[in-house]
Amino acid sequence: MLRNTIQFCKTCLTPNSRPRTIFNNKGICNACTNAKEKKQIDWDARKIEFEKIIEPFRNNSSGYDCIVPWSGGKDSSYVAYRLKFDFNLNPLLVTVSPLIPTEIGMHNRNEILKLGFDHIFIKPNEVTSRSLSKRFFKERGNPKMHWDAAVSCAPMQVALNYNIKLIFYAEHGDSEYGGRVLSEESKKIRDVTEVLENCIGDDPKNWLSNEVSFKNLSPYIYPNVDELRESDITALYFSYFFFWDVVENYNFIKSKVNFKLALKNRTEGTFTNFDSLDDKIDDLYYYMQFIKFGFGRCVRDASRHIQNSHLTRDEGLRLAQKYDGEFPSRYIKEALDYLSISRKEFEEIVDLHRNLEIWCKSNKNWELITKIR
Ligand SMILES: [Zn+2]
Repeated sequence: MLRNTIQFCKTCLTPNSRPRTIFNNKGICNACTNAKEKKQIDWDARKIEFEKIIEPFRNNSSGYDCIVPWSGGKDSSYVAYRLKFDFNLNPLLVTVSPLIPTEIGMHNRNEILKLGFDHIFIKPNEVTSRSLSKRFFKERGNPKMHWDAAVSCAPMQVALNYNIKLIFYAEHGDSEYGGRVLSEESKKIRDVTEVLENCIGDDPKNWLSNEVSFKNLSPYIYPNVDELRESDITALYFSYFFFWDVVENYNFIKSKVNFKLALKNRTEGTFTNFDSLDDKIDDLYYYMQFIKFGFGRCVRDASRHIQNSHLTRDEGLRLAQKYDGEFPSRYIKEALDYLSISRKEFEEIVDLHRNLEIWCKSNKNWELITKIR
């Protein structure tokens, strides 16, 4: 990508600076192409396929038919609810603790658990987690790298320990939100032996330091690939079998439990109030995306809404012009305390990660060279 050449999808608002997004020759991003294709799918046939696939996994000797990696948000709760109450499976819910949990997130998890699920909550060593968070925020502008690895590892570790053979992931991110889709099959089945992919492209052994010993890294170490092959675990994406729409998932969950929303009607940096509510560090995470790639949480949310016809492009554009890249002031103090860095250090780190191909300085203020349009 060269200066001044940021291109925005003609259907949604996704820029070509978004990692992994690919545009076709008509200027349409692959998430939009996928959204269009989804409308042609025979979902009744997919449901029949789904029922056939899950049948052999019922009545596992552990008592659990499957695992659902579960944040307690609308999407994974929608999956857990449907598996249990529409398909009579007994899922074990597995959560990796948010870095800085919010009360809203805890409330929403409890609301779902009250319906009757077993739940494993993994809280990695806080000293290690803070140390890694600080390191990754400094080095990569992302305080959640290790958390992503833990989220990837936890369902596998639990599946092996409890001898559970089926894992249900919510959506296939690369097709739903833009990315490289290797094959039609990859939208359905997750290859659990793709170790590098599941380690978020990095080996946690690279994270050792004076503060972080190998023993502290257990939550982040992906199981041995031979052990996984022998275990015969199947990991499926729920979104392959049932039409995936984040707004509809929210409406579904809201109709089942008392699901709490963002304070003051919307989350900072966007117009939505129902998404990514469980971790106080998320606002900073999305802000850093804006610094690195020139788009923030509002463009992300608006694009998903446009793809499923909940907003027009013009409506989404106006929201993005208003909210995208808004500074995450609400939780910034707690985030900096967690990272144990000062405000001055924070500002230096932000500028270190500012992509100068997309930002310029005018009158001492940073501005995006190409404004969203
Ligand atoms: Zn698009």
